[in-house]
Amino acid sequence: MAVPQRKTDIGPPNFEQFLPPVIKKNYGKWKYHEVLTPGAMVHVAESGDKLWTVRVASPRILATDTIREHCDIAEKYCDGHLRYTTRNNVEFLVSDEKKLEPIKKELAARGFKMGGIGYGISNVVHTQGWVHCHGAATDASGIVKSMMDELMEYFESKRLPNKLRLAVACCVNMCGAVHCSDIAIVAVHTKIPDIAHENFKNMCELPTVIGSCPTRAISPDPAQKSVKINPDKCMYCGNCFTVCPPINIKNPERDGIAIVIGGKVSSLRTNPKFSKLVIPYISNEPPRWPKVVAAVKHIVDVYAANARKHERVGEWIERIGWERFFSLTGIEFTVHSIDDFTFMRDTLRTSPAFKW
Ligand code: SF4
Ligand code: SF4
Repeated sequence: MAVPQRKTDIGPPNFEQFLPPVIKKNYGKWKYHEVLTPGAMVHVAESGDKLWTVRVASPRILATDTIREHCDIAEKYCDGHLRYTTRNNVEFLVSDEKKLEPIKKELAARGFKMGGIGYGISNVVHTQGWVHCHGAATDASGIVKSMMDELMEYFESKRLPNKLRLAVACCVNMCGAVHCSDIAIVAVHTKIPDIAHENFKNMCELPTVIGSCPTRAISPDPAQKSVKINPDKCMYCGNCFTVCPPINIKNPERDGIAIVIGGKVSSLRTNPKFSKLVIPYISNEPPRWPKVVAAVKHIVDVYAANARKHERVGEWIERIGWERFFSLTGIEFTVHSIDDFTFMRDTLRTSPAFKW
């Protein structure tokens, strides 16, 4: 019997086949766009053609039933066309203006939250958490739901000085965007890993494990055919666990959350920035993480009340100075925010200019 040929290297389907006809016709020839409401915008082409977009929130982890519901709505109002954004929102693409208000009405009736466009808060870029990843020091979906419940007014209507990007990563691998977001949550471990020495020789590769440690805290332990960790050098990153499961970094009592802020990726006005550590640790409190949510909401509120129009969080802080940020927010500045890693010198103050 002939063996069927294995199909491989076929790549993704060509995106062009999924474009609404109005996009195909005006591809690369769009003149301008306008934000109509926090959940709707219109793009106008050089030809005069228009395309209306209605954006709704999505929790990112979707059941196929929900995707089918998206498809039903797209069939009814958008000739079957929709897209998912880089922040995992859903956009319904309407080329007939008469269908704009009806689709908005139906989305609202079905409980979809419209918003996320313009100077507010859009969806939270986030990770696997306890749903799927073995290294997670916190959950992603749970925190995101708790946070967005509290901040929904900024998604649906209330405006901010500029867009405010939120992100969550459930370990310092930082899958996603936490290192470059206005406000982000990064889960951290706070305890030296326990090593199941008896499994090391069967499951781990010695050079890889030693090479995985950014602070060179790991050295061979020939007597146990395993490795040992220098507790004075370990800063609990969990990288060794990633390459060697018997080095267990997870600890339900001690794992928690750090908050980093002030990052951005766009080059508008100022260069892209990394986010910086302002709150080193908040313990995990599932299912609603009240202290984390309160801390994020507080930073959003202080930014909203103090930043100038168009300033991103990082730009606002660089204008007023980090001392002023800590005094305005009342967040305690701790030694943990002082960089002590390889390129720390550049982060220290090398000028006498500061505010009391
Ligand atoms: S951030 Fe870490 S724990 Fe979360 S999905 Fe990525 S690797 Fe897994
Ligand atoms: S947790 Fe990180 S710092 Fe600690 S031993 Fe493992 S790799 Fe090194």
